[in-house]
Amino acid sequence: MTCKACKIETNDVVKHAVLECQAVISLRDNLFERIVDILDPIDSVALFNAEDNILIEALLEAHVLQNCKQEIWEQYISYCAIKISNLVQYLTQFNS
Ligand SMILES: [Zn+2]
Repeated sequence: MTCKACKIETNDVVKHAVLECQAVISLRDNLFERIVDILDPIDSVALFNAEDNILIEALLEAHVLQNCKQEIWEQYISYCAIKISNLVQYLTQFNS
């Protein structure tokens, strides 16, 4: 499909929204800033140094972060789920 917001061809709209799309830079920056606030510094560094595919998995499923505290994990996964669905919704409903 073609991203409606930036017109770039993508076969993975979630990955495009979270990593690539130039139309949602501020939403994405906001997501990443909040993740850094929620997670321990060690976990945030590990997350942002991970390869793209691992980062995406961590954002959607958080199984990469199983060692962190239960309440942090819950806060993190619910926040990511909401923010990422907002990003994808924004892109799929975008009308130029
Ligand atoms: Zn895009």
